[in-house]
Amino acid sequence: MKLRAQAYSKVNLFLGVGPRRDDGFHELSTIFQSLSLNDEVTLRTEGSQPHTGAWVKGLKVRGLAHNEVPEDQSNLAWKAVTAVVNAYSSEGYVPHQTVHLDIRKGIPVAGGMAGGSADAAAALLLADRWLSTVHQVPGLGEERLLAIAAELGSDVPFSLLGGTQRGEGRGEKLSAVANSTRWWWVIALSRIGLSTPKVFHTLDHLRDTQQIAPPQLDCSGIIAALASGDPLKLAAELHNDLAAPALALQPALRRTLEAGTEAGALSGIISGSGPTCAFLCHDRTHADAVAARLRDSQVADTIVTAYGPAGGAEILE
Ligand code: ATP
Repeated sequence: MKLRAQAYSKVNLFLGVGPRRDDGFHELSTIFQSLSLNDEVTLRTEGSQPHTGAWVKGLKVRGLAHNEVPEDQSNLAWKAVTAVVNAYSSEGYVPHQTVHLDIRKGIPVAGGMAGGSADAAAALLLADRWLSTVHQVPGLGEERLLAIAAELGSDVPFSLLGGTQRGEGRGEKLSAVANSTRWWWVIALSRIGLSTPKVFHTLDHLRDTQQIAPPQLDCSGIIAALASGDPLKLAAELHNDLAAPALALQPALRRTLEAGTEAGALSGIISGSGPTCAFLCHDRTHADAVAARLRDSQVADTIVTAYGPAGGAEILE
């Protein structure tokens, strides 16, 4: 059996970070939007070898920055398959085969665009389809998959659903946000990634030493702007509490943000924990023009255009 699935990247249109909780995570108030930049994951069953340990027998990564992605059990897609196998096995549906995973990366690695989470979401769907087909039982269903996703990582539930969603808690408590507009973005990718835990740690440090504005958690302005369909209104509401620590760790990003607005973008933000920067544009033609100017300014390694919202993870039939 060979199955393919696609999953999309994300940008946080709004990312408010509350205080650190006792479990080490921060309480978030965020608005996610999935973007058309995507990864593809393929699951292949490998004959009917008896089970000798890991259900995933191998994993190969190709594409964008593929050599920075682990090809072992620490890969989030591998973990996702294992979690689904465990869920089926706990009900007596043990697989008779092992699988091999192939990942084609189109989402930058450690770019604040939830690339690993996208692969995990795609792998959850693939493993669910594989085992429900083999055992001729219904799939796990959205609720169960979302619960497994939340255990794999804070952004994995969003990667499963896609679209435009409000995220609370660690970002795993989702509710759909009304949006009927396709928004166009220019994305500036940097080859040097930023570690998400390090960015949060720096935020705590800046807050402890009072070098930073207080958290901004009210995302009602962005929700109204999304409903209006007006890019100028949305541009005015984009916000990221992680921008200050990301800029403290990578000061050159300030120049990237400036270059985006100089190139004519309506507004720019650091995506999630960075270092990817996302620039909102009026429409596709405007995005193409901004991207061309930004390429000339040479502030980022790669410049691409993307639209949002894209979908959630999906099996490619
Ligand atoms: P987020 O936006 O959710 O904070 P990110 O986009 O900044 O995440 P990822 O690309 O998801 O970061 O990767 C972060 C780290 O996770 C990588 O440096 C890599 O070592 C590890 N990783 C594990 N599995 C994957 C995967 N399938 N794809 C990419 N990175 C992975």
